[in-house]
Amino acid sequence: HPALELERIGLRIGGARILRDVSLRVPSGELVGVIGPNGAGKTTLFNVISGVAKPTEGVVRLGGQDVTTEPVHRRAAAGLGRTFQTSSLFPTLGVLENVRLAAQAHLGGAASVFRAPRRTDAATARARAALEEVGMAHRAGAEASGLAHGEKRKVEIAMLIAMEPRVILLDEPMAGVGSADVPALTEVIRALHRGGRTVLMVEHHMDVVLGLADRVAVMHHGELLAVDTPEAVMANPTVQSAYLGESV
Ligand code: ADP
Ligand code: MG
Ligand code: MG
Repeated sequence: HPALELERIGLRIGGARILRDVSLRVPSGELVGVIGPNGAGKTTLFNVISGVAKPTEGVVRLGGQDVTTEPVHRRAAAGLGRTFQTSSLFPTLGVLENVRLAAQAHLGGAASVFRAPRRTDAATARARAALEEVGMAHRAGAEASGLAHGEKRKVEIAMLIAMEPRVILLDEPMAGVGSADVPALTEVIRALHRGGRTVLMVEHHMDVVLGLADRVAVMHHGELLAVDTPEAVMANPTVQSAYLGESV
């Protein structure tokens, strides 16, 4: 089974068709870049995949299993993880505490910020390993509010890793990140993908998308215009006239 399968997804809100006839198969281990102008429906598509929004038409499958009517937490338990356009960190908690809460939520223990963490417990070990993987182990003791944007994004990715997702949705991971931090964050995403995880990434930095993606999906007015290799998408005349010709 593909890791993720969208079959003829449609979404209407009031009279507006936000998504129409979106079909996509993502094999396990693939990294798909999702591009398109603002308002194209990229975040809404992620909401449909994660269960935040219910499609009015079509089917969502994770690992071959129909999850179209499953709530968010059931999809997360089935191996789906996502980041949001806005930060999901608890600002007054430490870096390790933030990641430990994510690990604890996944492990099913009662997540508590009040109980002092024992260094040896499973959630703490998993949180430390996740911070190691994103190169943030040295900041484990820092308060989350004191982190730079790029560091926050890395910690958010560590929170995802701690929840052991098989399919990861990243919504504009480079947004708000200074250009000096883009290469390091790009390497973190590359490492996520090398770890065998399936990744869908909405991103406006074209050099990041082209550098990371196995395939690129182009959205425009709620439709999927093309899904192809980065080279083929860049050369696609329909894509060029609909999107690449506009100011990106
Ligand atoms: P993107 O992430 O590609 O910028 P979005 O998925 O956020 O686009 O939005 C797609 C379109 O759907 C936009 O026109 C937006 O205004 C509209 N939209 C998104 N969510 C809602 C909602 N809950 N109610 C009404 N319109 C919405
Ligand atoms: Mg968006
Ligand atoms: Mg690849």
